[in-house]
Amino acid sequence: MRKEISREMDITGRIVIPKEIRTALRLGKNENPDKPNMETGTVKVDMYVEDDKLIIKRKNPSCVFCGTEDDLAVSYRNGHICKYCLNEIKKLEK
Ligand SMILES: [Zn+2]
Repeated sequence: MRKEISREMDITGRIVIPKEIRTALRLGKNENPDKPNMETGTVKVDMYVEDDKLIIKRKNPSCVFCGTEDDLAVSYRNGHICKYCLNEIKKLEK
């Protein structure tokens, strides 16, 4: 069963996502599988419009160079690098 929660949005478009929803979607700063920004404690989300609905979802980790979410090889600080880009970077050493 769907539980609807109403919130007010301010004039700049800001809205607070209720804690129970953040917890359910693992959007808390200590629950996100992609590390939160260590300086600000923020986590990234993707949002898009589908029909007349605003969809907000946890951002999947992606390569900082090409954006793919597949074949992530290494994580460095708050970014990830895919296998392809890592191999390309290794070629630069030669
Ligand atoms: Zn890549």
